[in-house]
Amino acid sequence: MFLGCHVSNKTPDYLYGSINEALSYGANACMIYTGAPNNTKRKDLSALQIEKAHKAMQANHFDLERMIVHAPYIINLANTKKPELAQFGQDFLASELKRVAAIGAKVLVLHPGSHVQMGLDVGIQSIVTHLNVVLDADTSKVCIALETMAGKGSEIGSSLEELKQIYDGVRHKDRVGVCLDTCHLNDAGYDVSDIDGFLSKFDDLFGLDKIYCIHINDSKNPCASHSDRHANIGKGTIGYDTLHQWVWHPLLKDVTKILETPYIDGQPPYKEEIKLLKERI
Ligand code: FE
Ligand code: FE
Ligand code: ZN
Repeated sequence: MFLGCHVSNKTPDYLYGSINEALSYGANACMIYTGAPNNTKRKDLSALQIEKAHKAMQANHFDLERMIVHAPYIINLANTKKPELAQFGQDFLASELKRVAAIGAKVLVLHPGSHVQMGLDVGIQSIVTHLNVVLDADTSKVCIALETMAGKGSEIGSSLEELKQIYDGVRHKDRVGVCLDTCHLNDAGYDVSDIDGFLSKFDDLFGLDKIYCIHINDSKNPCASHSDRHANIGKGTIGYDTLHQWVWHPLLKDVTKILETPYIDGQPPYKEEIKLLKERI
C-alpha cells in the first residue's frame, strides 16, 4: 500500500526537505508542487537539491514512482475567452513536464480547466488541442493525470464522461490518465461509498490501469454540492470507513494515494491520518 500526502518544496532544502517531511509522517509516497501552486514562478532546477533527495529516497526505499507532482492550478487550457491565457498554460505545462522529468517523477496531476462560460464542448476541444501540442513536442515519459473535479463554477472534469472526451481526443494515450479525488468525486455527485460500482464504471470507460493517482480526502460538504472543500479524514461527509476502504481496495493496491487534508491549528495532520488509514480493521 502506497500512502503519502502533500508536502512542501521550499527553501532551504527543497526536494530533499520534501522527502524528509514525507518520511517524518511515515509516508511511502508524497506529492509536491514544483513551486507555489498559485503562481508560475519557478526556481532553477539546480536549486532543488534533486540528487540529495534521490539519495535519501534510495536509502529509505522510497520509489521515485511514488513522488507525484501537481501542476499549478492556474493553468487553464480551456480558456477560450482569453486564448492567450490558454497559450500561457500550454507553454508552462511544456516547461513543467521538463521539470518533472528532471526531478525523476513519473506523473504530473493537472486540473483539466474551466470553460469560463464559453461552453463545455469548446472548452474540452481547447484542452485537447493544447495537450496534443504539448505531448507531441515533449520527449520525456512523464504522464499527465487529469484530476476529477468537484464541478464548481465552469470546471471541466466533474464527470468521468467529460474526462473521457478529453482522453478520446488526445493522441498520446499512453501518457494520459486520471487522478481520482474522493472529495471532488463526492462533491461532483458520485456515491464514493460504492467503490466497486465506481471502479466498474471507470473500468468500462478507461480501464483500471488509467488510474494514475488517488487523492484521499474527506469532504466538508454533502454529495453533489459542487463545492470542493476538503475535510480531515473521518471528519467529513465521506467518513473514515469509506476512505479506509479506498486506501485498502485490492484493485487499487498499486496506485499511489495522497492526502490533501487541511492543517489543524497550523499543524499538518498527516502523521496521525496516515497512521489511522494504515490500520487494518
Ligand atoms: Fe488538485
Ligand atoms: Fe485533489
Ligand atoms: Zn480540491
